[in-house]
Amino acid sequence: MADEPLLTADIAVVGAGAAGLYAALTAADAGASVALVSATPLAQTASYWAQGGIAAALDVEDSAARHLDDTLSAGRDAVRRSAAEVLVEEAPRRVADLERLGVRFDGDRHGVLALGLEGGHSRRRVVHAGGSATGRRIVRQLSALAVDREHITVLEGARAASAWMRDGRCQGILLEDGRAIRARATILATGGAAALWSRTTNPPGSLGIGMWLAHAAGAELADLEFLQFHPTAVTGVPGREGFLVSEAIRGEGAILLGPDGERFVDELAPRDVVARTVAALLLQTGARSVGLDMRAVDPARFPNVVAALSDAGLDPTREPIPVSPAAHYMMGGIVSDMHGRSTVAGLYAVGETACTGLHGANRLASNSLSECFVFGSRAATAGLDEPGPGAGSAGERPPAPAPLVRPERATQEALWLHAGIVRTSEGLERLLADPSPMARLIAACALAREESRGAHQRADFPATEAALDLHHSVVGTDECPRLERWH
Ligand SMILES: Cc1cc2nc3c(=O)[nH]c(=O)nc-3n(C[C@H](O)[C@H](O)[C@H](O)COP(=O)(O)OP(=O)(O)OC[C@H]3O[C@@H](n4cnc5c(N)ncnc54)[C@H](O)[C@@H]3O)c2cc1C
Repeated sequence: MADEPLLTADIAVVGAGAAGLYAALTAADAGASVALVSATPLAQTASYWAQGGIAAALDVEDSAARHLDDTLSAGRDAVRRSAAEVLVEEAPRRVADLERLGVRFDGDRHGVLALGLEGGHSRRRVVHAGGSATGRRIVRQLSALAVDREHITVLEGARAASAWMRDGRCQGILLEDGRAIRARATILATGGAAALWSRTTNPPGSLGIGMWLAHAAGAELADLEFLQFHPTAVTGVPGREGFLVSEAIRGEGAILLGPDGERFVDELAPRDVVARTVAALLLQTGARSVGLDMRAVDPARFPNVVAALSDAGLDPTREPIPVSPAAHYMMGGIVSDMHGRSTVAGLYAVGETACTGLHGANRLASNSLSECFVFGSRAATAGLDEPGPGAGSAGERPPAPAPLVRPERATQEALWLHAGIVRTSEGLERLLADPSPMARLIAACALAREESRGAHQRADFPATEAALDLHHSVVGTDECPRLERWH
C-alpha cells in the first residue's frame, strides 16, 4: 500500500522524530488512519540524539508556575506566555503518557523519577532515560509502536517536497519520488534548521526543509533570527566535530576552564550567556576551544557521552574535553497556534519546525522535547476536526512536486560567518544574496530585528529595546519581515 502513487489518510505526518511519532500515535489511538513519512533513518533525527531529557514540573517542591517563570526568564521577554502556559501545564501529563506507552525513564532506588538539573532551571525537573540516552530510548519505543499500529502506514526514506494545495487549503503532501498523500490534515514535524550552519550539533537533515515547504505553500514563518548556539560542542576532534556534551553534565558539576585553566563563567547560566561568554573568550585569547572539566562527575551517569568521547580518543575522567559553541536549536519556524495550526488551512506544524513563540529568544534547556509531546498531541487531536476533502477533489490527480533546494557547503559557511553568535548588518546583507532561500529569509529576519536579544546579538545594535519586548519577526510570501507583538 505504501508504494501506491496516491495514498489517502485522515492525517499525514511528515517527520518521525519525537513530535511526528507522538502525533501519529495520538491520532491512531483516536481511531484515525495515519500516513507517516520520514526522509531519514531514525538514528538521524535530532530527537534520537537528544541527551538531557524532558522538562516537566514533577518534583513536589516544583510547580507549573516555577517552570513558567524559568521559561519566561530564559526567553528574554520574547516568550509567548499563552504557549508557555500550555507547555508547563501539560508536560507532566505527557511524561506520564510516555511511561504508559512503555518508555522507561531513570528512577531513584525507590522507583521515583530521577530529575536532572540544567542551566536556567531553578529546580531539578529534567526527566531522562539511560542517563543521557533519553532521545534514543524514546524514539526507539515510539517508532516500534508506530510500526506495529494497524492504522499507521510508514513511508521510510520518502521525502516531502511540497504541500498539495487546492483553493488555498492544504489537502495533503507531495513526495519527491512522485507519490502523494491526500489527508484532512497535514502535520509537518520536520525538525529544525541548525544544520544550515557549518558548525552544528544537529544531524545533517536539520535543514529547515519543512519551513521552506510551508513558506512556499503560503504559510508565515517567524523568529528565524533566533538560533540557539550550544556552548559545549566538541572541537578539533576528527570524527566527533560538533558532538554535543549535554548541559546536564554541567548540572552534575562539570566546569568550564579557559585557556589559562581558570573558570570564567557560571556554567549554569542560560545558554545564550554561556555561549556568548565562551565565544568572547575564544576571540580574545585566539584559542580554538575551552576545556569542559567533568572529572568530578560520575561517568556512569552519562554512559553514552563518555563512550562517544572515548571512541574519539578522549578520556573525560582524566582530562578536560575541548569544546566551543555550535549552532544547536532553531527557536523560529512555521507560525503555529496553540493547536499546531499554521496560517494555511489544513497545514499544521509541531516540534522544532514550529514557532509558537514558546521559546522566545532563548529556549530553556529540555523544553523542546516537552514541546514535541505537548503540541504533537494537540495538533493530532485538532487535525481530526478538519473537514474531509472538498467535493471535486476526488479523482483529482496530484500535481508534480516542486524540486527541493538543498544548501551548498558555501551557504553553511556563510551562515556561520554572517549569522553566527554576533552579527552585523554588513554580513547579514551579504547573506541576502545567498543562493539558499532559507539563508535569505534568516538574514532578512535578523536584519529586521535592530537590537540584541537572547540568541540574536547585533554588534551594530548591542542594546535590547524594551519597545520590542514580546515582538516576533513574521515573514510571509512577500519575504519582507515585520515585527509583530504576540500575546
Ligand atoms: C545533540 C542534541 C541534543 C539535544 N538534547 C535535547 C534534550 O536533552 N532535551 C530537549 O528537550 N531537546 C534536546 N535537543 C533538541 C531536540 O532534540 C529537538 O528539538 C527535537 O528532538 C526536535 O524533534 P522533532 O520531532 O521536531 O524533529 P527531529 O527529531 O529532528 O525529526 C525530524 C524528522 O523530520 C524528517 N524530515 C525532515 N525533512 C523531511 C522531508 N522533507 N520529508 C520527510 N521527512 C522529513 C526527518 O527525517 C526526521 O524524521 C537536542 C538536540 C540535539 C541535536
